[in-house]
Amino acid sequence: MQTQILERMESEVRTYSRSFPVVFTKAQNARLTDEDGREYIDFLAGAGTLNYGHNNPKIKQALLDYLAEDNIIHGLDFWTAAKRRYLQALEEIILKPRGLDYKVQFPGPTGTNAVEAAIRLARNAKKRHNIVTFTNGFHGVTMGALATTGNRKFREATGGVPTVGGSFLPYDGYLGDGTDTLDYFEKLLSDKSGGLDVPAGVIVETVQGEGGINACGLDWLKRLEQICRAHDILLIVDDIQAGCGRTGKFFSFEHAGVVPDIVTNSKSLSGLGLPFSQVLMRPELDIWKPGQYNGTFRGFALAFTTAAAAIENYWTDDSFAKEVQRKGDIVSERFARIAAWISEQGIEASERGRGLMRGIDVGSGEIADKITHKAFENGLVIETSGQDGEVVKCLCPLTIPEEDLQKGLDILEQSAKQALS
Ligand SMILES: *Cc1c(COP(=O)(O)O)cnc(C)c1O
Repeated sequence: MQTQILERMESEVRTYSRSFPVVFTKAQNARLTDEDGREYIDFLAGAGTLNYGHNNPKIKQALLDYLAEDNIIHGLDFWTAAKRRYLQALEEIILKPRGLDYKVQFPGPTGTNAVEAAIRLARNAKKRHNIVTFTNGFHGVTMGALATTGNRKFREATGGVPTVGGSFLPYDGYLGDGTDTLDYFEKLLSDKSGGLDVPAGVIVETVQGEGGINACGLDWLKRLEQICRAHDILLIVDDIQAGCGRTGKFFSFEHAGVVPDIVTNSKSLSGLGLPFSQVLMRPELDIWKPGQYNGTFRGFALAFTTAAAAIENYWTDDSFAKEVQRKGDIVSERFARIAAWISEQGIEASERGRGLMRGIDVGSGEIADKITHKAFENGLVIETSGQDGEVVKCLCPLTIPEEDLQKGLDILEQSAKQALS
């Protein structure tokens, strides 16, 4: 495999190609193929960007049809038939059946673009600067979003410019099982000398993806919503990774029955891996003045088309959501078994997550890397997350055939045994 030019020219900032140093050429659903024709099961799926699998035929066909007809590919934020089709699908199939009423902003196409827009909107709506965020939260790496991202690796790479505007509080479980971390938040809000500037908003992931597959309790999330309501603080759910079906519901917050004021989506939103993001906001929060927040790629017609096709094909009833929950149970059971075996070797390990967003915490990045490197040798693409990369995570396509799911789990189990015994 010819990799010289890739190694020579691409910046040292590259990451995933270090874990998987092959040239990938083709992909279909949950399988990747490299240039030598070797096949891999994909449990990374673009870090949760390929919920509907690689080259999903139904979604791709919508794109091919759209391209074949000389439709608008780029039009700034023009009205296009593609945008109309997407908004119709979003409203009719996703929002209305869930009793949700949101207006939609299309910022730039990445997740961090959506987070930047969401927190700026919250600040302008509440005329307050502070955004409360949580330990191990990941919300993107541009300056505004970075102020709400916990990981020092990113925070220390600003050339010394401080990241401002975010206040970190302990996420659910951060202080151990016996402590409800929201007691601390409530106390700070009610204590005039607690030192916390009353925030405009709270930004939270219901399952922390990059932070280690930490799923907050549903009661904790409900209580967070109540605290926000009681103190006139906006609740922002960052559903960029946990949304679009990953946890077994379209929006991850549906499990708790909360209704965020603002929601961010990206990663799997386009359905095909095209760059696309959105901010959903309660209608009365839409205080933007025309053009006050702009960008060249505000809504991407090809992504509107594929995102509409994804919604139309997978979300008109609950069969897909049920399938995700069922597969999530399979992964959970097997992960628990693998974690138990690892624990028997004297390395404390445990399983966690929600839906098909699951991880095995093995306590150290070194051990997790041993397992994922061995897994890659054995034909499985799987990554780690958490502050030290100590969690082996499964973000396989939601559409993965059960056979491939079992095969991927078999490879992982066998790889853990080879790497650690
Ligand atoms: C990936 C991610 C982001 C950032 O998205 P980018 O497209 O990488 O900018 C923000 N929040 C969450 C929860 C994410 O998983």
